[in-house]
Amino acid sequence: MTIETETPRLLSGTVTAREIRGEVAAGCAALKERHGIVPGLSVVLVGEDPASQIYVRNKAKAAGKAGMNSQIIRMPAESTEAEVLETVARLNADTQVHGILVQLPLPSGVNTQHVTDAIDPAKDVDGFHPVNVGRLLSGAPGFVACTPRGIIELLKRHEIPLSGKHAVVIGRSNIVGKPMAVLLLREHCTVTVCHSRTVDLPRVAAQGDLLIAAVGRLAMVTAEFIKPGAVVVDVGIHRVTDEATCRNLFGDDPSRLNQLREKGSTLAGDVHPLEARTRAGWLTPVPGGVGPLTIALLLRNTLEAAQRSASSDPA
Ligand code: NDP
Repeated sequence: MTIETETPRLLSGTVTAREIRGEVAAGCAALKERHGIVPGLSVVLVGEDPASQIYVRNKAKAAGKAGMNSQIIRMPAESTEAEVLETVARLNADTQVHGILVQLPLPSGVNTQHVTDAIDPAKDVDGFHPVNVGRLLSGAPGFVACTPRGIIELLKRHEIPLSGKHAVVIGRSNIVGKPMAVLLLREHCTVTVCHSRTVDLPRVAAQGDLLIAAVGRLAMVTAEFIKPGAVVVDVGIHRVTDEATCRNLFGDDPSRLNQLREKGSTLAGDVHPLEARTRAGWLTPVPGGVGPLTIALLLRNTLEAAQRSASSDPA
């Protein structure tokens, strides 16, 4: 493999997330001092999905560290939709709760859209409610999905120029791809959104000065997808558990091989890390890239919900 560019510079989500969490903690302290309000985040977990258990615990723990009240409401996997809606209604009515997050995926008997629609838009810190999605599209203030909002923060805090650049987003999900595309438009990028029906995806992707990979396929984005010098943001999270794949993605990197041996797995994204290094100008690592930002922006959204409740501004 030929090296076409210098090793890309790292876009560290860990550092940016730490900054944001510090700002949120300061905001929480100020809100308490001026208005006696402690932001409250309620996370609803239905069922026992192991990954969701970890995400929910991490979110609640981070909220506590920032000076918020956080609670996890655990509901059994066999809960009915009516029971979940009842929980959401109770949280909507609770003035101590400023942010409500229902962890996805929900069990098959519970309709995700019905639950999302039931959350008070003023407490919808995930930014998934149709009212907030509409506000995002129309440019009105509202809550924006945490992962794409975090990516914009990451790019801005690293002073990556966006205006006039061609941004290519691979993925059109409601939680990442679509809101990402709208936020990039807002930053005056020319935006191309790709998906599973895109013809000649590598050629289209390689037009991007900025490439956002939110495709959910391990290391699918190889060198041919990347314009030399492009800024590459890897949203994907995958657990690699076998040595052959680990070596394919990370070469002989001893830290990765040790992690695999000691912990049984190492994390990788939608972008092939070794191949991206031959082309990208900037690259988010996995882990330590987009992941930490999602939680940091959830905290930011919750603080903003509490701040709005303290003022007369509508959410
Ligand atoms: P989804 O599965 O909801 O969406 C994936 C998108 O990629 C779809 O639009 C799909 O197209 C497209 N796609 C799938 N296969 C291909 C292909 N072969 N070629 C082109 N496009 C394809 O995933 P999410 O958006 O929820 O998540 C994407 C990734 O990001 C996942 O790995 C997820 O774990 C991770 N993630 C990470 C977060 C973080 O905090 N770091 C937060 C959220 C997600 P189509 O619409 O046509 O089906």
